[in-house]
Amino acid sequence: MKKLGLLGGMSWESTQDYYRIINEGIKERLGGLHSAEIILYSVDFDPIDKLHHRGDWSGTESVLIKAARSIEKAGADFLLICTNTMHKVAPGIEKALSIPLLHIADATAEALIQDGISCVGLLGTAFTMEQEFYRGRLEEKFGLVVLIPEENDRKTVHRVIYDELCLGNIRKDSAGDFYKIMGKMAEKGAEAVILGCTEIGQLVNQRDTKIKLYDTTEIHARQAVESALED
Ligand code: GLU
Repeated sequence: MKKLGLLGGMSWESTQDYYRIINEGIKERLGGLHSAEIILYSVDFDPIDKLHHRGDWSGTESVLIKAARSIEKAGADFLLICTNTMHKVAPGIEKALSIPLLHIADATAEALIQDGISCVGLLGTAFTMEQEFYRGRLEEKFGLVVLIPEENDRKTVHRVIYDELCLGNIRKDSAGDFYKIMGKMAEKGAEAVILGCTEIGQLVNQRDTKIKLYDTTEIHARQAVESALED
């Protein structure tokens, strides 16, 4: 089994899901008392959040490169960045390391394509929904058509992520807002919705909607299990 490197803590609320899903996956695949070999670097999110909210992406990148190098030095065979948003600086992190990065958008796009989906809605932070690093990658590298919510709805999603979900505050009214926003994207032609923020899976549930959901945390963590068990 390969050693998985996790760059987590953004937020720790979702990193605990990665830890659980990866270990469940290894147990399912290998049975008995098997569990994943994980090297986790969990950052203090507050100063990093302040950096990227004031647009200091090079400061964000420096902090994350330092953490990622520690993970590599500790013996990880490959790296996962446990947040969609921080993939904005994934190219810089990749360049600074000699181990491979398992990109969250690539894992998600592959799952969508395998299921024959070509037009998809995207929910995530404003950075993820509006900037090219994520949406552009899904469109250009994988040929997907990506729909995003209208401006007011994007503001709601962004606020709920940082003011509620990253603080472990799961509210029914916010879940209701998310289902409404997903419904609007489905009306515009989305065949499925990407939960493109690693905390959204704690808020909404496949049982409560007919719209097919692609939870990036689940997909990324499951893909990591497959990679860990590859020869
Ligand atoms: N976990 C979030 C994501 O997947 C947002 C937190 C952040 O990294 O800014 O995008």
